Amino acid sequence: MPVTRTLEADVLRRQDPELAEILLGELDRQSTTLQLIAAENFSSPAVLSALGSPLANKYAEGYPGARHHGGCEIVDVAERLAVDRAKALFGAEHANVQSHSGSSAVLAAYAALLRPGDTVLALGLPYGGHLTHGSPANFSGRWFDFVGYGVDAETGLIDYEQVRTLARTHRPKAIVCGSIAYPRHIDYALFREVADEVGAYLIADAAHPIGLVAGGAAPSPVPYADVVCATTHKVLRGPRGGMILCGAELAERVDRAVFPFTQGGAQMHTIAAKAVAFGEAATPAFRLYAHQVVANARALAALLAAEGLVVTTGGTDTHLITADPAPLGVDGRTARGRLAAAGLVLDCCALPHGDARGLRLGTAAVTTQGMGEEEMATIASLLAGVLSGGTESQKARDQVRELTGRFLPYTG
Ligand SMILES: *Cc1c(COP(=O)(O)O)cnc(C)c1O
Repeated sequence: MPVTRTLEADVLRRQDPELAEILLGELDRQSTTLQLIAAENFSSPAVLSALGSPLANKYAEGYPGARHHGGCEIVDVAERLAVDRAKALFGAEHANVQSHSGSSAVLAAYAALLRPGDTVLALGLPYGGHLTHGSPANFSGRWFDFVGYGVDAETGLIDYEQVRTLARTHRPKAIVCGSIAYPRHIDYALFREVADEVGAYLIADAAHPIGLVAGGAAPSPVPYADVVCATTHKVLRGPRGGMILCGAELAERVDRAVFPFTQGGAQMHTIAAKAVAFGEAATPAFRLYAHQVVANARALAALLAAEGLVVTTGGTDTHLITADPAPLGVDGRTARGRLAAAGLVLDCCALPHGDARGLRLGTAAVTTQGMGEEEMATIASLLAGVLSGGTESQKARDQVRELTGRFLPYTG
């Protein structure tokens, strides 16, 4: 049987209705529930289109102009475009856009700068460090000797004095700053100062805030860190993937750490989609978006505090909020389940002051949908109503449907 190669929107529906049904079901889920997971967003139809393009067919080991495969002359242009746009967007001397994910970018950064057994200072996992920051279940915890700094139990803020003390005591080869749950700006200048004092590399894992950096709504780690690792799919709103930024002097080491050390062939469709996303992120519209993301998060944090939740650090500088729902009589895990049943999708996270789990939520996706402070008020009261038992789950679910129906992520 000949294989269909006509690129039509409903080709999947005709050829594989079973899988098409699953895709439509997921589109319906994303469109009718509230995506409050801080790491998620809705990428544009142009980004999705690049992802679904025939560039997915191309093998391209190596870098533009130096590939291990023939026929790379067109994809070379795509990768150069992605690199140039990333460099311009972040003011970086060098960009590697091949990392398959945020975790792969961190792996490559370590590979570029460290040897197995080296000591690394990073935010401890109980305080919001990522798995790649020394989890025993991850390569990082097995291959390196991680020392963890923490946050102040009262304020929830990074304990910069402890960072300095631990750096002096342990003389790490690298210091990592960046978190999966830190709602405040990071003092990159201070981290740089500590790294310089002990002769350590500074690695900024800016997976979360890099989109805010692109939109001018958060300070950039680029002038301070030796290597910046990032994702392209969080606030930045591109395809799922990673990226590394660094100075010219580390460019070759970083590139070789990505390919051939930790990865094989580049995913050219994803790299093309990254180029599209960097192009979008360089527009005035994206600047407005990034600032609205933060305005929404600030509003939502204040509203949640007014509803009785304990908001970590008392608010946020970013897209991300963590909060303890205990005053409403429910722990984080139970809260997440109840909220999911009502159509509010978010995560649990660790809290600075102890064992109980809290809630982590973000405003990147709902802001892409066009929601503003008014809708944040609706979300806060829905969330509190569900958790306190004041609003029935079905009634909340109906209200979520009504709200999301007015702010569809995709039309047509
Ligand atoms: C999201 C995140 C990562 C990992 O990204 P993946 O694409 O899921 O591998 C790494 N570090 C931090 C701080 C993150 O927030």
